[in-house]
Amino acid sequence: MRVIMFGPPGAGKGTIAGALNERWHVPHIATGDMLREHVRQGTDLGLRAQAYMEAGELVPDELILEMVRARLAEPDAQHGFLLDGFPRTVAQAEALERMPAGGADVVIDLRVPESELLRRLSGRRVCPECGAIYQADTMPPRRPGVCDRCGGKLVQRSDDAPQAVRNRLEVYRAQTAPVLAYYGERGLLYSVDGTRGAVAVIAEVGAALTARGRA
Ligand code: AMP
Repeated sequence: MRVIMFGPPGAGKGTIAGALNERWHVPHIATGDMLREHVRQGTDLGLRAQAYMEAGELVPDELILEMVRARLAEPDAQHGFLLDGFPRTVAQAEALERMPAGGADVVIDLRVPESELLRRLSGRRVCPECGAIYQADTMPPRRPGVCDRCGGKLVQRSDDAPQAVRNRLEVYRAQTAPVLAYYGERGLLYSVDGTRGAVAVIAEVGAALTARGRA
């Protein structure tokens, strides 16, 4: 199944997709994680993307599309995927349709009000070693500052700093929210109240995917 996890920054896309991909035997493809890895390794793409990311701006479509096209051509993506953080513009959604393994069967629209997003993003900590995500109030690590999964030292993403967060929410409203109408017109949206705890949201999304898989 080809699933898109959609929602503003902080809605829980990575957490939900990370919990579901093993059960569905499809790769979790998070464009933000891929880009951060390019930045970490200092690749040509990483060098070109870094300033946009730190400012909370979108990386230009042509760079993203080249990266996603290559990823979806890999063998593990031929029978479905969980896309997280892509598409973020209508042009990206249209380009996804034209990719050989592309298109979407369902778009999970995680709904969370802005006040809650701000609270979540300011308390978010991530493990740069294994990608695990924590939240100070609702999903703290067992030992403060240390990853439960791999023992890595938790950090705040540079784009979770207050000014970058405000910019990312503005970019979401202006450039990414229109993607909802694109998928709404195609009857692919499944909206979920993303304010409940991760366990409840994971269960609801899992049940929705199971129902769609049978349909
Ligand atoms: P994320 O981890 O999904 O919040 O992405 C972090 C940053 O990577 C974003 O703020 C953008 O700068 C960039 N990025 C990730 N995915 C995309 C995309 N599909 N299109 C443009 N920029 C992206």
